[in-house]
Amino acid sequence: MPRMNNRRIMAKHYAQGVIAHLNLLGYHDEQAKLVFFRHYREMKRIFGLEPNVGEFAKLIDEFERAIKREEDNLKNPNYIKVGHLHERLIKLKSKQEKLKSTMTFELTESMLQKIKEWDSCHTTDATEAKFAYIFIPTGLGVIIKVECNICNRVLDLTEAWY
Ligand SMILES: [Zn+2]
Repeated sequence: MPRMNNRRIMAKHYAQGVIAHLNLLGYHDEQAKLVFFRHYREMKRIFGLEPNVGEFAKLIDEFERAIKREEDNLKNPNYIKVGHLHERLIKLKSKQEKLKSTMTFELTESMLQKIKEWDSCHTTDATEAKFAYIFIPTGLGVIIKVECNICNRVLDLTEAWY
């Protein structure tokens, strides 16, 4: 089967050529072989033996560097995987969308207490429409104000944003 032998010899020459180029890229002999065999199958599956040996060596080098970068990043406790970051952004976005679409604003217990302490007017209106509540959504949070319709004073209830 001379054809098969030729193919095998070609593949061997190809491998040797790639390893020689990996040497040129700074991988010493053992390391070059290790790196070559680590990525060879996948590279061959993706690219075939189409690229010339120099290009193939560069692809292997890029692959190796990308994997090393990811490994280094994972060792860093402050590193957020891109996928997690993406999830967080989606969550944050849906929270903002919800706020925009429903426009529900709440006065906390302490806000109601502040209004009570601040208020000094008695309404003569049967509907008791004494206060106007003003909610201004901003990119940072909600500005909350209460305006008294009788004395026209305004109470700022905006809480610290964080
Ligand atoms: Zn008042």
